[in-house]
Amino acid sequence: MPRATPETQPFWDGANANMLTIQHCTACDEWVFYPRERCSHCAAAALEWRQASGRGRIWSFIVVHRAEPAFADLAPYVLAVVELDEGPRMTGIVHGVAAPDTSLIDAPVIVRFDARGDQQVPVWQLESAS
Ligand SMILES: [Zn+2]
Repeated sequence: MPRATPETQPFWDGANANMLTIQHCTACDEWVFYPRERCSHCAAAALEWRQASGRGRIWSFIVVHRAEPAFADLAPYVLAVVELDEGPRMTGIVHGVAAPDTSLIDAPVIVRFDARGDQQVPVWQLESAS
């Protein structure tokens, strides 16, 4: 399981409230992910946490057959790099896709949250499956 650090705690707190929150730079108006102390676009320390749309598209994916223990009950599963509507790319599990093929590329997805232990974790679902 991911462990929260001082930089990532707001992300996990948001997830526990079923919200996808990522950093936004008030200096250059760009979104930033993963969490960090300074903007990856302009290096300003002007990052604030905002709720993202929870929508994106599959940019790349793999099928995980041998998962780490915390996710073994899900295997095999699709692990995708999702390009958020806001721009940043984020890795996550795509639920409800048993036998993926290349048609997953660019497929629209929406976020939802699954409990892993006492932490809610963002996962993705094909928009066409909702
Ligand atoms: Zn910036």
